[in-house]
Amino acid sequence: MVILTRHSIPPVRYAHTKAPASMVSTETCYDVGVIGAGIAGAALAAELSCTHRVILLEQEDQPGYHATGRSAAVFTSIYGNETVRALTRASRTQLLYPSPSFTDTPFVAPLGCMFIARPDQLTQLADFHSRPDIHAATQWLDAAQARHRCPLLRPGHIAAAVEEPDALSIDVHALQQAYLRQFRQQGGRSRPSRWCNFGCGRGPSSGGFGGDV
Ligand SMILES: Cc1cc2nc3c(=O)[nH]c(=O)nc-3n(C[C@H](O)[C@H](O)[C@H](O)COP(=O)(O)OP(=O)(O)OC[C@H]3O[C@@H](n4cnc5c(N)ncnc54)[C@H](O)[C@@H]3O)c2cc1C
Repeated sequence: MVILTRHSIPPVRYAHTKAPASMVSTETCYDVGVIGAGIAGAALAAELSCTHRVILLEQEDQPGYHATGRSAAVFTSIYGNETVRALTRASRTQLLYPSPSFTDTPFVAPLGCMFIARPDQLTQLADFHSRPDIHAATQWLDAAQARHRCPLLRPGHIAAAVEEPDALSIDVHALQQAYLRQFRQQGGRSRPSRWCNFGCGRGPSSGGFGGDV
């Protein structure tokens, strides 16, 4: 996802691209351009469109075509670096208790998750488990306990595991659609928001995925 601010959007035409004339909006004045309608771009465009005129540009016919559509959809607060983990923790409440005006579909469901270690990875797992936020969110399981949780594990393959009982599964489609819906709805009010399918050098574009450019 790339964000363009008012100053970096060419004022009349998107000068570096070869979009067909039919795909070029007659309304060329936006405060912000968001490139990419994956989950990041959709969420950002929805939030920004409360206060700004936003254009969301997507090269594919469908939003969520790339990483978003391939996600394993696990919400885990013990994955990634410290910053990512903090951001994940901060988003938990909103995912669990979204506003009814934002969605009528639950975004998350209980799942549970285990990180497993072979005998040669035991020290790394112990080091991982000792970090305060990870320690607080997990419990240590020995091999027998881990196999009890997940009988598919081959006997002797793992030495231990850390379990994150509060991990969740995410309905990625519902979440992304809620953001895109909010984005469109905000466009229907005082500040116009638009989205379009914009070739960006990847060949002729089709009609977009429901936009109104
Ligand atoms: C196999 C896999 C499993 C994963 N599992 C999980 C998981 O369990 N839990 C989790 O939290 N995360 C998971 N992730 C990570 C998560 O899916 C990504 O972090 C997230 O989807 C990234 O969203 P994004 O919007 O940044 O990127 P994307 O979804 O890739 O969106 C980027 C969009 O930008 C568009 N684009 C790019 N360049 C241009 C351009 N020049 N012009 C116009 N449009 C453009 C693309 O077409 C695309 O639609 C997983 C990722 C993968 C690949």
